[in-house]
Amino acid sequence: MKEMLGFLTSSLSPFYIPTLPTIFCSTSVIYDSFIYFSLSIMANTMAIILLCAIAIGIVAFLLSSSNKKKLVEEKLNQKFPEAWHEMLQKKVVFYAQLDEPGKRLFEKRVQRFLATKSIEGIDTDIDDTIRLMVASSAVIPTFAFPDYNYPNVRAVLIYPNSFDDKFQTQRFDGHRENISGMVGNRFMTGTIILSKPDLVMAFDGLPHKSNVGIHEFVHLLDKEDGAVDGIPELLLKHRYVGPWLHEIKNEIAKIEKGTSDISPYALTNNAEFLAVVSEYFFENPEKFKRRHPELYQFLSAIFKGDKSILSNKV
Ligand SMILES: [Zn+2]
Repeated sequence: MKEMLGFLTSSLSPFYIPTLPTIFCSTSVIYDSFIYFSLSIMANTMAIILLCAIAIGIVAFLLSSSNKKKLVEEKLNQKFPEAWHEMLQKKVVFYAQLDEPGKRLFEKRVQRFLATKSIEGIDTDIDDTIRLMVASSAVIPTFAFPDYNYPNVRAVLIYPNSFDDKFQTQRFDGHRENISGMVGNRFMTGTIILSKPDLVMAFDGLPHKSNVGIHEFVHLLDKEDGAVDGIPELLLKHRYVGPWLHEIKNEIAKIEKGTSDISPYALTNNAEFLAVVSEYFFENPEKFKRRHPELYQFLSAIFKGDKSILSNKV
C-alpha cells in the first residue's frame, strides 16, 4: 500500500511527466540534431571541396606562370638568328643607323617583345619578317626606355589589308578601305590591328615620313596616362605641356597654310598630330631636325627622356 501510494504520488508529481508530447519532442530534437549534423557534414564537405578546388587552381596558375616565365627566359637566352639580324639591317632604317651596342640592345628588346606578346595573322599568313616588323614598331618609340615592354598590350592582329571601322577589309577586288592601323578599345583593349601591306610598305628599308607601326605604338604610349590626347604625360612633365600645345598650334597653322611638309592627317586632332610627327621623327630624324627644329626638341624630350633640351621653353 505504501508502495502503491508512493507510486501514485510519484506519478502525479510534476517532476514525473513522461507524456507523449515529451517523447515526441525528444524524437524531434534527435531528428533535428540528425538533420543539423548531416547538413553540417555536407557544408564541411562542400567547404573542403571548394578549398581543394581553389588550392588546385592556385597551384595550376603558379605552375602555368612559372612555365610561361621559363619559356620566356629560354626564348630570351636564345641566340638572335643571323637571318633576323640581316632582315633588320635591310628593312629597319632605325636599326641600321644604330651602333653595335645599340643593335644588340634593339635585338634583345625585339626578342622580349616576341617572347611575351601574341602576333596573329587574321585571314592572312605571317612569317618572321612580319613579326620582326611588328616588334620593331614597338621597340623604336621606346628604345630609350630599355625596361619598357608595353604591359597593356596582349596581342597584335595582322589584317590582310586596310579595313573600315567595322574591321571589314576590301569588299571587292582592287578596293582598299582607309584604316591601316588601330589601337583597340572596349572589348578590343590590349590589342593592336595592323594592315599587312601597309606594315610591309613602312619597313622597306627607305626613310619615309610615315610608318603605320610606329604610329599605332605611339598612340599606345599616349594612352598610358589614360587619355589618347597627344599629351603623353608620363613622358612629358606637366610644366612642358603648355609649351607643347603651343608648338602643336604653330605647326598646325603652317600645315593649314601649306608651308609644312607634315602630313595633313596631323590636323585631325592632337593625338593624331603626335602620332604623325613621331613617324617622321623616327623614320627620318636628320630631315625632321632640319625642317622642324622646335618640334624635334619636344620629341627628343618625350622619346629620349632628354628634358634638359626643353629648358629654354619654360
Ligand atoms: Zn592614329
